[in-house]
Amino acid sequence: MGERVALDAPLVVRFAGDIPSAQRWKVAELEPDVAGDGHWVDGATWSFTPKRWRQGRPQRVRLHPPGGEPVEWTFRARVPMPLAPAAGEGARLVLSFDDGPNDRRQADRLLDRLKELRIRALFFPSGRWAKTRPDWVARARDEGHRVCNHTFSHVNLTAPWMTDARITDEIARGAGDGECKLFRPPLMGVDARVERIAKTLGYEVYLWDVDSRDWEGGPAEDVLATTLGQARPDAVVLFHIHAEATYQILPPLAERLRQAGYVLSWDPADAPGSRVGAGGRPEWGALADRPTDAETSMADADLPGLGPP
Ligand SMILES: [Zn+2]
Repeated sequence: MGERVALDAPLVVRFAGDIPSAQRWKVAELEPDVAGDGHWVDGATWSFTPKRWRQGRPQRVRLHPPGGEPVEWTFRARVPMPLAPAAGEGARLVLSFDDGPNDRRQADRLLDRLKELRIRALFFPSGRWAKTRPDWVARARDEGHRVCNHTFSHVNLTAPWMTDARITDEIARGAGDGECKLFRPPLMGVDARVERIAKTLGYEVYLWDVDSRDWEGGPAEDVLATTLGQARPDAVVLFHIHAEATYQILPPLAERLRQAGYVLSWDPADAPGSRVGAGGRPEWGALADRPTDAETSMADADLPGLGPP
């Protein structure tokens, strides 16, 4: 089995000899467990067809042949093609970037890259970081992005010690370009009280539909696979300003999404007919089951300058 496999590629294991039926249930193990159809073709051959291999992260297989040495190997699913919007569906995909890097050049080159790629994004830096970079906030706004609120000090507003006054203060001192009224709570810390206070301050709570997992520091190719595999009309994608992998994948990501028919902008005016992009819409779990039309393998050559994660 190769290092990269199609999302629905079957796994076939041939043992050297017949496995007694009483032991078959424990000779092969998948980590993480995935849904699919597993059966014994004959006494020595086990075949498993997944509903879909785990995407963007390693899939491990462990074999424990009776009386033999355990065998283990890992593979990854190929980078999928994004699901294309159907006729009548909105085609907007909103890229959003949170937090703020210690290295100022990282934030600057991200703006450079978005400009080259003609992407209009949403930014949710902490107020504390944005305060150190008023030039960056102004440049982002001037280049067609929106800088929005992610609290002042990136705290979890649902922590037990948070009073109404502290929540109010954190949101009131959040970053903004004066035009964006979206509020993204750090660490998913949102409850009815946080939502009420945000609303009182004139903000709409804005989450995301697709977590690119770029905050995990995994390989760039996995961030690309995760994002493309879950892209769907009007979704909001979560990235981070400081994520090196995200910076690297933006060119192939934009290319593939545009090939599939997406418009990469927060602004509905750039994608007439688009529905919303309200973020955090609960129906995404249902949509995630829709099949991916096609897949493609991604050669290293597609990711110029891709270094170690
Ligand atoms: Zn954050």
